[in-house]
Amino acid sequence: MIKTKSYAAQSATSPLAPHEIERREPGADDVRIEILYCGVCHSDLHTARNEWTGTLYPCVPGHEIVGRVVAVGSQVKNFKVGDLAGVGCMVDSCGHCHSCAGGEEQYCENGFTGTYNGPLFGGENTYGGYSQTIVVKESFVLHVRHDEKALASVAPLLCAGITTYSPLRRWGAGPGRKVGIAGLGGLGHMGVKLAHAMGAHVTLFTTSPGKIADGKRLGADEVCISTDADQMAARANQFDLIINTIAAPHDLDAYLRLLRRDGSMILVGAPAAPHPSPNVFNLILQRRSLAGSLIGGIAETQEMLDFCAEHGIVSDIETIPMQYINTAYERMLRSDVKYRFVIDMASLG
Ligand code: NAP
Ligand code: ZN
Repeated sequence: MIKTKSYAAQSATSPLAPHEIERREPGADDVRIEILYCGVCHSDLHTARNEWTGTLYPCVPGHEIVGRVVAVGSQVKNFKVGDLAGVGCMVDSCGHCHSCAGGEEQYCENGFTGTYNGPLFGGENTYGGYSQTIVVKESFVLHVRHDEKALASVAPLLCAGITTYSPLRRWGAGPGRKVGIAGLGGLGHMGVKLAHAMGAHVTLFTTSPGKIADGKRLGADEVCISTDADQMAARANQFDLIINTIAAPHDLDAYLRLLRRDGSMILVGAPAAPHPSPNVFNLILQRRSLAGSLIGGIAETQEMLDFCAEHGIVSDIETIPMQYINTAYERMLRSDVKYRFVIDMASLG
């Protein structure tokens, strides 16, 4: 076993603090990665504080991992020592169900193994990227083809990037399509960049007037303050697609009314408490759809990373030392992040 420094929450109410974990020695098809950077996703906070229930403690969050391969098992074919590599939200899945066979491991019918808090029904816990090293099956490791200098800003693509890329592709963001992105946080700012790069007309919906200029700089054609009823009413019946990244319960009708006939709103934000139920008539009368989407499969995650490398897309980040994590969580709750915290793992010593 490999002793590894990490930061963990010991309970739903305790701050994250130094903790030592053990990683397995790499097996034949494993890759061992020295973690250089790890993004801070709002899901880390939901999990560390047991907001979704079911958190196993100690909990070491982190599923936006980038680093360097330092060892490979004898059967590993596609990675070698020295390669840059990424790990997202999953480290395993059953591999044989309908979803896994179709490259949609995130919908594994037997339950994928999360990078942290992995086992759903007993078994050993998994520990995430707020740590120095991780050992992952080759088939769940991604190639990073960005310039190494951009590595810290690549980390958030592993969750925030793929979580917005996947529904944008599935629901057809592209030229001639009007796309809305609700919430300018980690997911939302990637949604704006990606929808813009795909050629869609992009409108950002934000509760924060201070983010208007950034929204435009990131690629939004328009920015709408979602708390302003007049600005919202002026946009009724226009959108083909809205990706809703908001991390708190809110009135979905305010957004459903913005969809044109046959338009869809995709929920990716995962608040701990339910949204108030939407008015069914807002769906019926214009044959609108309300759907959800979970990260993306491994092949699609690689496609997204390569798309971003090709288009020069990375995340806008604030690099922090590991010791800052509890302050970072409080700032995230105040929507005070531009637009993703990324932990420099060298700070763990
Ligand atoms: P984040 O950085 O905190 O961004 C969330 C944004 O939502 C905020 O910046 C804010 O944007 C807006 N917001 C927050 N509270 C709000 C409120 N009360 N009313 C209206 N808007 C509010 O979080 P994130 O990391 O992007 O994650 C967003 C959500 O997605 C979380 O619930 C997370 O767990 C979930 N998630 C889901 C998946 C998936 O696969 N579906 C993957 C990763 C994360 P403005 O300031 O612009 O209003
Ligand atoms: Zn995440």
